[in-house]
Amino acid sequence: MPHISFSALKDWNFCAWYHKLTRIDGIGRFQGNAYTAFGNAIHEVCEKKLLNEKVDENEHFIQSFERFLDGLPEKQDDKLVEQMRSQGKEIIPEIDVALKDYFGEYEVVGSEISLEEDIEDEDEYHFVGYIDGVVKTPDGKYHIFDWKTCSWGWDARKKSDPMVTYQLTLYKYFFSKKMNIDPKLIETHFALLKRTAKKNRVEFFRVTSGPRKTNNAVKLLNKALYNIKNKRYIKNRLSCSKCDFCKTEHCS
Ligand code: SF4
Repeated sequence: MPHISFSALKDWNFCAWYHKLTRIDGIGRFQGNAYTAFGNAIHEVCEKKLLNEKVDENEHFIQSFERFLDGLPEKQDDKLVEQMRSQGKEIIPEIDVALKDYFGEYEVVGSEISLEEDIEDEDEYHFVGYIDGVVKTPDGKYHIFDWKTCSWGWDARKKSDPMVTYQLTLYKYFFSKKMNIDPKLIETHFALLKRTAKKNRVEFFRVTSGPRKTNNAVKLLNKALYNIKNKRYIKNRLSCSKCDFCKTEHCS
C-alpha cells in the first residue's frame, strides 16, 4: 500500500526532485555509516530499558553495534568506532536516571509503537512511522518521545525547527487518532543521547504541538502527497549546496 513516513516528507520538503531520485527511482539512497550504526544500537538498548527487560545492557549495545557495522557497505574508521564503544557505555547508565528525573512517576504505555494510519482527504496513501516511546504520568497525560543520538546536543534553532519537530507533531496527531485519545492529553518530547557530552548525556525536552502547528504539519503532508501523486518534482535549488546529487548526472 502506498505510504509516506516523516523522513520521506522531510526529503520532499528538502527538494521534490531529491525525493523522486531517492524514494521513487531508488538512486543513491543513504546506506548508513558509523553514526547510524551507533544510533541504531543505542536505540535498541533504550527500548529494552524502557520495557524493563533484563539484559546485560553494555553487552547488548556492543553486540548490536557490531551487527549494524557489519551490515554497512563500507568499513568505518577504527578510531571513531572505538570512541563510540566507550561513548555508548557512558550514555547507558544515564538513561533510567534521565527518564525518572524528567517524568517522575510514570507507566510505560509502549515502545516502538507502529503507526499505519489513514490521512484525512487522502484515499491512497497512509502515514507510517514508529513511536520510540510513550509513557503515562499520574496526571493522566500521555508523553510521546523520540530518541535522537547526536554529538554534544542541539542548539535552540534546531530544537524549534519545524522540519525537525513536525515529526513529533504528526506522531501525536496520528497516535491520538489511533488510540482515540484527546490531543490535549498528549505531550511530545525529544530525548537527546549525546555522544561527546561530558555530563547530562541524556537530555529530554518538550516540544509543543498545538492545534495550529498540527494543522500546518498535516497541510504540508497533504501538499507533498498532491505533488508526488501528480508527479510534480520541482527542483529546490536552495538545497543544492547540501545535496550529494549536485552537479551529477542525476541533477545538473
Ligand atoms: S542538486 Fe538541488 S535540485 Fe538537484 S536533487 Fe539536489 S537539491 Fe534537488
